Amino acid sequence: MTLAMQPIDRVRAFPPRLTEFTQRFWQGLGNGRFETTRCEECGRLSFPPKPFCPHCWSARIVWTPLRGRGKLYSQTMVHAAPAIFEHEIPYRVGIVDLDEGLRIATRVLATVEPKLDMAVEIIVLNYRDGPLFAARRCPELPA
Ligand SMILES: [Zn+2]
Repeated sequence: MTLAMQPIDRVRAFPPRLTEFTQRFWQGLGNGRFETTRCEECGRLSFPPKPFCPHCWSARIVWTPLRGRGKLYSQTMVHAAPAIFEHEIPYRVGIVDLDEGLRIATRVLATVEPKLDMAVEIIVLNYRDGPLFAARRCPELPA
């Protein structure tokens, strides 16, 4: 499943740290893929992707695609931000429960206060210097 993309005409305020391991996630995200890691020992997923399992400490992990769909568990508007994000205030952040059972923290795109438990999709924000992800209401579903 390919994520929707939204161009953002500026650079990321706080770009993610790229490592040999995280490079696959960020390159995939830039191409609309949302992936994480699953443990081959205990079968559990992790997010963000990790080179080992945080549940059983196994290093036998595999990459697995995520649908990028879920429900909004919680959200808030940020009015006082760290200096590096000051030019973006106010902005929303939230917690999304993905369909695969992962609970993730993410930026939330919404012009009005979003309803909790509403269906959301993860989209790619394509900044000039690379991608980030965010959640927004599923466009094909009523609010
Ligand atoms: Zn495990």
